[in-house]
Amino acid sequence: MFRSSWIEINLDALKHNLESAQKQTTKEIICVIKANAYGAGDEQVVKTALSCGIKTFAVSSLDEALILRNKGIQEKIIILGFVHPEHIPLCLANNLTCTCSSLEWLYQLSDKNPHGLLVHLKIDTGMNRLGVKGLEEAKEALTLCKEYGLQLEGVFTHFSSSNIPTQETTRRQYNEFVSIVEQLNHSFKYIHTCNSDAIFSFEDAISNAVRLGISMFGISSYRNDLKPVFALYTTLSLVKQIHSGEAVSYGETYVAQTDEVIATIPIGYADGWCRRNQGRLVFVEDSLAEVIGSICMDQSIIRLPRRLPLGTKVELFGNNIAIETVAKELQTIPYEIITTLSERLPRLYISNGQVIDEVNARLDYSKQKKA
Ligand SMILES: *Cc1c(COP(=O)(O)O)cnc(C)c1O
Repeated sequence: MFRSSWIEINLDALKHNLESAQKQTTKEIICVIKANAYGAGDEQVVKTALSCGIKTFAVSSLDEALILRNKGIQEKIIILGFVHPEHIPLCLANNLTCTCSSLEWLYQLSDKNPHGLLVHLKIDTGMNRLGVKGLEEAKEALTLCKEYGLQLEGVFTHFSSSNIPTQETTRRQYNEFVSIVEQLNHSFKYIHTCNSDAIFSFEDAISNAVRLGISMFGISSYRNDLKPVFALYTTLSLVKQIHSGEAVSYGETYVAQTDEVIATIPIGYADGWCRRNQGRLVFVEDSLAEVIGSICMDQSIIRLPRRLPLGTKVELFGNNIAIETVAKELQTIPYEIITTLSERLPRLYISNGQVIDEVNARLDYSKQKKA
């Protein structure tokens, strides 16, 4: 590793969380690994999931599915998002499963030789994002799938509010889904509604599969026995004293009130360490340190309680600062924190306390190009 800032992905914690989901439900687990497995790295997450006996994966786009196929992953892959009809032959050639996202999408398939395409019909029960709406549209979709010779093997919906404990909205969405699926009177191999939060909070009698995402990484609205998978670290790259009245970083947004020890850390907004982190706390040795001054593209500055040596490890989140706390303080959700950590940060994979693999996506990619 050449960078002094890095992400640690704890594969033992990942395994623990996957097994927790398997204990929670006997339904087939569809492991959702969109956005490079929420930033954790799809290859390692797939490997761990396979070791737990999980054999079905879902991504958001055709690119993400092709990346997995290029990496030699032969398992079933469902594309949950929109695939442009012109790319249907590519889906067929790579044995990918598509989402039927609207009637208009189906109409456009008619001249794309879609015969044999594996399809899951998405029913919109309230997200108002993708999916056919209401029984009539669902029936027409079913008819068209048969007409075009598609393999309509799945039906699903997505809940908008499964993180809310009352589950009122989820119940309403579920009831509508059940009513439509029953009236379609088609034999589906896969029926699925639940995302992570719903898996741990909602009784779903009609489904035989679930879509597991964020809780793999220890993040859940309902369970506190899951283990955090992500940690973000950097190190002190320069330590010095400044005097009262001196300003720090672009725009002089911070001015020292007394003589202070400050340190530079080599991580900035281009790493996904966004500018709103100014004023938040990080963890150094045994104490908290404030991020002072504006965050730069590649570097930030913190105020230390005392002089510490160059190279001292700094936790931005991990064991001492929970990702949920960071998300709350930045007025966002943990999903956004982990998925926006950029590819510039190397990922170290930890198992039994040891680094067992290291990925620096851009460096690895440039090596492949040269080879
Ligand atoms: C992302 C996604 C999921 C996984 O959601 P989590 O909350 O991360 O478990 C499930 N279904 C669909 C359609 C998704 O887009």
